[in-house]
Amino acid sequence: MSVDTSVRAESERLFRRAAELIPGGVNSPARAFGAVGGTPPFMRRGDAAYLTDVDGNRFIDYIGSWGPHLFGHRHPAILQSIEGALEIGTSFGAPTAAEGALAELVVSMVPSIEMVRMVNSGTEATMSAIRVARGFTGRSGIIKFAGCYHGHVDSLLVAAGSGALTLGCPSSPGVPAGATADTLVLPYNDTEQLRQAFAVNGDQLAAVIIEPVVGNMGCVIPTSEFLGELRRLCHHHGTVLIFDEVMTGFRLAAGGAQELFGVTPDMTTLGKILGAGMPVGAYGGRADIMKCVSPAGRVYQAGTLSGNPVAMAAGRAMLELIRSSSPYARLEQLGSALESQFRGAAGRAGIPVSINRVGSMLTVFMTDQPVTDLASASRSDTARFAAWFHGLLNRGVYLPCSQFEAMFISAVHTDEDIVATGVAAEAAFRELAAA
Ligand SMILES: *Cc1c(COP(=O)(O)O)cnc(C)c1O
Repeated sequence: MSVDTSVRAESERLFRRAAELIPGGVNSPARAFGAVGGTPPFMRRGDAAYLTDVDGNRFIDYIGSWGPHLFGHRHPAILQSIEGALEIGTSFGAPTAAEGALAELVVSMVPSIEMVRMVNSGTEATMSAIRVARGFTGRSGIIKFAGCYHGHVDSLLVAAGSGALTLGCPSSPGVPAGATADTLVLPYNDTEQLRQAFAVNGDQLAAVIIEPVVGNMGCVIPTSEFLGELRRLCHHHGTVLIFDEVMTGFRLAAGGAQELFGVTPDMTTLGKILGAGMPVGAYGGRADIMKCVSPAGRVYQAGTLSGNPVAMAAGRAMLELIRSSSPYARLEQLGSALESQFRGAAGRAGIPVSINRVGSMLTVFMTDQPVTDLASASRSDTARFAAWFHGLLNRGVYLPCSQFEAMFISAVHTDEDIVATGVAAEAAFRELAAA
């Protein structure tokens, strides 16, 4: 099989026009190919595990809208549920049964969640969870880990700080220093620095927020010692442990990373898969904490379109599909097959790689060293990744357009897709070796 998807004339025309109207031509920066160069294909439609762009190129999709499409594009059960909701009305600004139905599913599936509030994005979920943790504890300090991404929340837009225990400074213009003054940034997987931070600041820490498997510096896996010690320290100091499972929720297990690792946080944030492609986020946790949220409690958080019936219908169909079809064994099988395809392809082409994978989340790092935190992820050869990325894109394989993202497999990818991806990956690796 050999495909050529390198003709992008219509995408280039649309991108040039979009760039005059929308900053950078995109409504979210990760789509713009800034890290790899070139023009992003503009998509026309999605079918199961495939995307077709406006030039008629067809791609095997390993992004799945950056996570949500666990069962591929336009799954019939999800479409049917959305269509049913549309017939009744798109939004009422009043309570509906659909909200309770989705809340009930979330509470029954995610171990840490006794009560849940629906919002409209992952960013809203993490922003609100931090506020609730601060309101609940009466403290202001938070810890985040370098390389973890929690949406574009002011207090969490601090990425730097590898190595030393650094006090946060904003990583975007427009975020005032005051917004991050209470944010402590620590290296991922460094249990010793975590202990020291709690020893010094423990009684001022409202919350620790963490991606329990990181996707946003590429896929990085926590050690069980690190997660276990984090749980113990938060408990000991009365600090709210927040698992940001916007990416890992419903992807690694029906109950997310917390189910997979057997570590239960106090609060959890969700998004992506929860909305099945519609804009939905949620935060939840222990009932005593969630009862602080208005109007039950005094911590204010609101949303005109929160719990929107169309979005709730999509989410409900998604979670019911997960329950009825239990896709995780199949996702593991596909993930493991894809990992070995990449390993074999890189090995035969003589390109050193380090591959991290948990289930259907995977990153091929262009380095021969293990990747366990931001410092080790940053040692990857990003120019080489960009060349490999374009080698795959031109052969009909659509990967995340940055070394520091995870790719996602869906339950509707086929064994043939995985083999075809391996063939394309080897050809792309061989181009790198020849360069
Ligand atoms: C995507 C993501 C977010 C942000 O969600 P948005 O819906 O893009 O606001 C937050 N946390 C994690 C772990 C994510 O992967």
